[in-house]
Amino acid sequence: MALLVQKYGGTSVTSPEHIGHVADRVAAARQLGHRIVVVVSAMGEETDRLNALAQATNPAPRPRELDVLLATGEQATIALLAMALERRGCAARSFTGAQAGIRTDATHNRARIESIDPTAIREALANKQVAVVAGFQGVDANGNITTIGRGGSDTTAVALAAAIGADECQICTDVDGVYTADPRIVPAARRLDRISMEEMLELSGMGSKVLHPRAVEYAGRHRVPVRVVSTFMSGDGTLVDHQQSDMEGPQLVGIACNRDEAMITVSGIPDQSGIGAALMGPLADANIDVDMVVQNQGQDGRIDLSFTVQRGDHDRALRRLRQTADELSARSVSANDKIAKISVVGAGVRRSHAGVVSKLCQVLAGEGIDIRMLSTAEIKVSVAVDEKYLELAVRALHDAFQLDRAEDTGSEDRHTDADTKSAV
Ligand code: ADP
Ligand code: ASP
Ligand code: MG
Repeated sequence: MALLVQKYGGTSVTSPEHIGHVADRVAAARQLGHRIVVVVSAMGEETDRLNALAQATNPAPRPRELDVLLATGEQATIALLAMALERRGCAARSFTGAQAGIRTDATHNRARIESIDPTAIREALANKQVAVVAGFQGVDANGNITTIGRGGSDTTAVALAAAIGADECQICTDVDGVYTADPRIVPAARRLDRISMEEMLELSGMGSKVLHPRAVEYAGRHRVPVRVVSTFMSGDGTLVDHQQSDMEGPQLVGIACNRDEAMITVSGIPDQSGIGAALMGPLADANIDVDMVVQNQGQDGRIDLSFTVQRGDHDRALRRLRQTADELSARSVSANDKIAKISVVGAGVRRSHAGVVSKLCQVLAGEGIDIRMLSTAEIKVSVAVDEKYLELAVRALHDAFQLDRAEDTGSEDRHTDADTKSAV
């Protein structure tokens, strides 16, 4: 008899029928004697709808009020799922983030979980109820409703699993595990039975949205066993493994991509000390994250500095940089807000960065794709390319690095649930 946290994402609760299916699944696990805490997201695209509603009402809503609005998405799902469970004779009780004891800091729209008091959840479990908890939300020290950032329900689930000492945190979603690449982009992608924590952290940090990076980070820090499984079909999914990555294992474990990137270049900066700090300082002050950075020295001795920012920050970043570039007497500032980042990830990258980089460059050149920027880290190599090449580049790299082939069997199941969803 296990103590389980099961998290169902928006794609698993898009309609009353889907919620009924989730209730069947949870009730079946209860029948087996497991104690269950369920964490749910808002139904389907509800959070997008609520965001659009806010924008239509006030293009710059106060973050506090936006949180009050956004939190209603998850609040609707917990009530509906509790009702669906009761209908199946399975005792259940819904909990908002605040009722579940989830305390966050006061940074509205992207708050961080500070602590969880699981007393109320434990009481529900002791009363043989399924605790149904709203993901993505909490409450600050002054009783204000907060939300923890898009995709945050994964983090709620992992944090609750840590707080109650769950045997496993199951992320139930519309794919049956973690694949070597997004199976919607690469039909030949292969499901992994296991992935190391270190590799999962890189894949999700670089854009594989099957797991939210903060959830993986939290799981690593608190040693929470996490498994990604399908809501719609049976199977063991993918276990995120706390064992060290296998140095002898395959070179690469997967490819991640992120299309929300923009690139900015400040050209012709007179060579002087402190250029980097002068340019980056105003961005840091405005909370704009800079990712890949490349600095070149031109023939004329002047410097070009290029870097990527998130696409949503592009306009703000450009405004600030134009001002600083003027102050530094730089020649020009140019930008491209249609950039994608593609990262190949694997513990084996450590063995040969040069080997991975040269193959990657060769493959992309073969497809006629310009690499705008390249960066290497311990277990990943990332490139920035024009967004229009994203699919082509990911498929070509997946193929060239033979990620569709398992080292041992090559016979694992491979499918998204797009085809099985109709069975719900
Ligand atoms: P949920 O609504 O359950 O939170 P998400 O849409 O956030 O689901 O995450 C699941 C999606 O993640 C899948 O539908 C898939 O397209 C995408 N995805 C991206 N990279 C991967 C990967 N490496 N393995 C599996 N799924 C991936
Ligand atoms: N509903 C929120 C979102 O769409 C949180 C989540 O789904 O994890 O981002
Ligand atoms: Mg998600």
